[in-house]
Amino acid sequence: MTLGACPYCNDGVIEVRDKIVRGRKTKLYACSNAHWSSEDGEFFELTQDATCSFAIWQNALGRYGKWLTYQDIRTLLQEQELEVTLISKKYGKKIEYKKTIILDQEYGVAVLWES
Ligand SMILES: [Zn+2]
Repeated sequence: MTLGACPYCNDGVIEVRDKIVRGRKTKLYACSNAHWSSEDGEFFELTQDATCSFAIWQNALGRYGKWLTYQDIRTLLQEQELEVTLISKKYGKKIEYKKTIILDQEYGVAVLWES
């Protein structure tokens, strides 16, 4: 399954790859031109034939209670940005807030904290 064109190279498409990181199932949304010698999230070293390094972990925003769905990724690839609901805990209370996230070549996605 592919979710859209890679924004950072000419002919790559974003694929869904099933991963297990520290015993937990997660998904890596990665460019078809990006391959790592290990994809367990700890040693992210590109293979020699990789021509792109773009990838988004499904749990990139997991610490804010947000898991990125296929639809989230499709929208991000098309619109370049997406409004999401993030959750943080303060004094034992859950606080929800809406933020815009954008594509980030190095980290996959980035939160626009100032918006
Ligand atoms: Zn790419």
